[in-house]
Amino acid sequence: MVAAPVRAPSPTAPAPQPVRMQAFKDAVTKLIDLDAPLFCDVQMLQSTEGDVIKEFSVTTDWGPTAWTLVRPPPLVTPKRLPNEYLRIYEHGIPWDDGDADLCQLEEMTRDLFQRGGVKIFMKGHEKARLLVQQLKVNFESIHLLDHAPRLTTLRGMFPSSAQCPFHGRSQMLCAVRNAHALLGYVMSQP
Ligand SMILES: [Zn+2]
Repeated sequence: MVAAPVRAPSPTAPAPQPVRMQAFKDAVTKLIDLDAPLFCDVQMLQSTEGDVIKEFSVTTDWGPTAWTLVRPPPLVTPKRLPNEYLRIYEHGIPWDDGDADLCQLEEMTRDLFQRGGVKIFMKGHEKARLLVQQLKVNFESIHLLDHAPRLTTLRGMFPSSAQCPFHGRSQMLCAVRNAHALLGYVMSQP
């Protein structure tokens, strides 16, 4: 397989970690106030104990986008070879990067994801399972868009100007771009 050339992530210096965490919390607060359907995506790495969430993004129509990179769980062993492939050719995220611990992410998204009546659109059973297991999301709240075209296709059909601080304009897989593609798809449905 020949990998497509990828552009390096944006050279813009990232905001300091406390600023990124506050931006995440502020976006989640606004999403709670809007009380509208949510569009969520994650990018993962692999460990000997299963997939771990590395990048997390959730947005809504005419709303902010909450984004964070997640620190690796301290007691699990990464799978080196698949993770190197994912880092080089897919989403570019190294194992050790991250702003929030998984338990912090669960805490910060609790009022958004665990309230009654919340509707979360996602694509992919494995990603949905991670939200249920690791972020304690009620499975009934997740609406899987498995009948929709592939995310690669959706990103082409519904391009968004939304960028995440890690991936910038890079063409690598990004949870922010995927969440916005899902939003574009659902909004285009009659
Ligand atoms: Zn990204």
